[in-house]
Amino acid sequence: MTETTPSPHSAPAHSGTPLSGSPHSATPLLVKIASPRGFCAGVDRAIEIVELSLHKYGAPVYVRHEIVHNKFVVDSLKAKGAIFVEELDEVPDGVPVVFSAHGVPKAVPHKAAERGLNYLDATCPLVSKVHRQAERHVEAGRHIIFVGHRGHPEVIGTFGQVEPGHMTLVETVADVAALQPEDESKLAFLTQTTLSVDDTAEIVAALRARFPALVGPKAEDICYATSNRQAAVKAMTAGCDLILVIGAPNSSNSLRLVEVAEREGTRSMLIQRAAEIELRWFDGVRTLGLTAGASAPEVLVREVIDVLSRHFEVTEEKVKTVDERITFKLPRALAAEADAA
Ligand code: SF4
Repeated sequence: MTETTPSPHSAPAHSGTPLSGSPHSATPLLVKIASPRGFCAGVDRAIEIVELSLHKYGAPVYVRHEIVHNKFVVDSLKAKGAIFVEELDEVPDGVPVVFSAHGVPKAVPHKAAERGLNYLDATCPLVSKVHRQAERHVEAGRHIIFVGHRGHPEVIGTFGQVEPGHMTLVETVADVAALQPEDESKLAFLTQTTLSVDDTAEIVAALRARFPALVGPKAEDICYATSNRQAAVKAMTAGCDLILVIGAPNSSNSLRLVEVAEREGTRSMLIQRAAEIELRWFDGVRTLGLTAGASAPEVLVREVIDVLSRHFEVTEEKVKTVDERITFKLPRALAAEADAA
């Protein structure tokens, strides 16, 4: 589904640009904007948990790890009184602490409880679901093969749901070939929520082919938001000369959007803010695709369009592939604040 409108943000060229390169005065540029894009229900909920905690307890509220992987979001919350740390040891006694949307190893809430800290868990419910699946597989005596990216906080959090030795990480089909499980009849698989749909399908197919008794979800655990944003990019690659993805370099789902576009044969760049755009990227570009990862706010999409409109005669076209209506409940401790907000 597409909707085309001339940009209300069109402005004459040479109107004061943060972009580097020579201006393309009055050159038409069709900007196809993917829908869905940007914030997912898990990110919305995590940010709201920090904001409502600030409202309920007052500043400072500590947050363990970036609440979501986006500098703009983190800086906005810092300005409101949130303090971001990497480890619980950095949180002083007597202040509330929020755990990020990516999830944490079980040891973290245990340690917080031991110290009597008031903690709020902003782990996305779809990540928590994978955590519970991991526990159930281990209870059933299965070894888990986990498909994910080494070092990502979600992977660290999921591994931390079970005792060491019960889970093995695979990142590629080659990793699957190298697996040497003790008992092939007692294997299960789980996946990170923000992976490439296509790469993961290949890895899961390799796992199923090698271990026919493998137990796992019908589909992988890639979340609705990751799948939908990748499908939306795929739907517009054919008509685009360049695709810009707004997101952070440590945002897994944003990086996957760049990969999806490149795999479909369309040049793609990841940017955090409009200021990173270089006009030379637009040589020969008549149609631009624009999207944003699940942790990138809509204000950054508008910022990019505003800046492009100073250099091009921009026409916006929405490319909608699906409606997203998913929302997640807030923790009970913040219900009163949520009602009052
Ligand atoms: Fe949850 Fe998916 Fe959003 Fe991650 S990207 S916070 S798993 S909905």
